[in-house]
Amino acid sequence: MLKNHMVELVEVGPRDGLQNESAIVSTADKLRLIRRAIDYGVRRIEVTSFVNPKKVPQLADAEELAAMLPERDDMTYVGLVLNRRGAERALATGRIDELGAVCVTSDSFGIRNQGQSSDESLVAAMEIVALAKEAGRSGQITIATAFGCPFEGRIAIDRVVEMAKRAADAGPREIALADTIGVGVPAQVSEMVGRVREAIGDLSVRVHFHNTRGTGIANVWAAVIAGATTVDASLGGLGGCPFAPGAAGNVATEDVIYMLEQSGVETGIALPKVVEAAGWLTDVMGRPLPAMVSKAPAF
Ligand code: ZN
Repeated sequence: MLKNHMVELVEVGPRDGLQNESAIVSTADKLRLIRRAIDYGVRRIEVTSFVNPKKVPQLADAEELAAMLPERDDMTYVGLVLNRRGAERALATGRIDELGAVCVTSDSFGIRNQGQSSDESLVAAMEIVALAKEAGRSGQITIATAFGCPFEGRIAIDRVVEMAKRAADAGPREIALADTIGVGVPAQVSEMVGRVREAIGDLSVRVHFHNTRGTGIANVWAAVIAGATTVDASLGGLGGCPFAPGAAGNVATEDVIYMLEQSGVETGIALPKVVEAAGWLTDVMGRPLPAMVSKAPAF
């Protein structure tokens, strides 16, 4: 058991979860999902993304949703953006507290996902953080495909460490390591989180895992032990990426909370409320969701 250990969970279901669903969820249901996440104890939520609505029609209501977000001083609402235009849209709502910028480790994925080479995506991410800070907000940088790329395979840890070091110079709230296509394994996670932490000084590490090959939850544990302070998860295990072939959902909020809390790690999240919310979300989506804890008997 870990003692006096705390981990922050970021609920990413409204963005990463819903963007890979073929069904378009209503703005009202997105708002219900956000309210439920606040109610189960999450204090940072990735609420939407400000990207081309033709490419991601599921999140075309970004501005409308932002205007309806519950006004609370204790919440950080994150909007994902990929370029200056997206950053300006998000900031113009006046309701987005943090810009989430994404850079990628390979040119082949970068061009397909966001029309940028790896280096261009890093420069754009640093610019987004600068724009957020100028506007009095925070910015975070996620290094996507950190553990592997669908086109180029395993990514050298040195490459990720070098990107993290450069990204840290922009002054983001944290650096996130994302396993966009769910190929990472715990030994790789331990090493990468450790090496990135050494490279970025006081900044903390957030991790983002997809459970494509069943290693998601083990990767979360490896990351927490290696010193990651924040974990992304989505209610029910919704999620994926429309531009990553065969991508599966994020690690599920309820599965992560069960594992952490039962291991003595505090998260501030009420598992019974998460399970209840997962039941509601299953009805909204009209199909069983991948999470396991919400399908198992209460324990
Ligand atoms: Zn993701």
